[in-house]
Amino acid sequence: MSEQRLQEAIDTLKSSGVRITPQRHAVLEYLLNAMTHPTADDIYKALESKFPNMSVATVYNNLRVFREIGLVRELTYGDSSSRFDCNTSDHYHIICESCGKIVDFHYPKLNEVEALAEQVTGFTVSHHRMEVYGTCSECKAKTAH
Ligand SMILES: [Zn+2]
Ligand SMILES: [Zn+2]
Repeated sequence: MSEQRLQEAIDTLKSSGVRITPQRHAVLEYLLNAMTHPTADDIYKALESKFPNMSVATVYNNLRVFREIGLVRELTYGDSSSRFDCNTSDHYHIICESCGKIVDFHYPKLNEVEALAEQVTGFTVSHHRMEVYGTCSECKAKTAH
């Protein structure tokens, strides 16, 4: 992760009037470094030794602030806990059915699908979501004998 991205994110927070506490800084830094789309719990576990007074609720509150400003996206998949994605550019996800890992991949936005959906239903489309599922290479290696 580039220091520049962290600095840009901090500038965005500052210009939105958000105070940068050490915990907030740490959560942001962790998110920008994580390519794994962590849950609030993952972030909490990674940072709890550094911030013994921090609670999962604090992590959640920070994530909510980041989401409202547009620094992160919250991903919800069924009933499992939300995951957070600091890659806010258009991309799709492939999800491992064994370990739950989420990996980004890029593909041109499927504008035709949105246009078709509008035509067929009369809705005004705001966005779409697509997920691809499978088994990641690590899980495949584990099960291969
Ligand atoms: Zn896996
Ligand atoms: Zn992503």
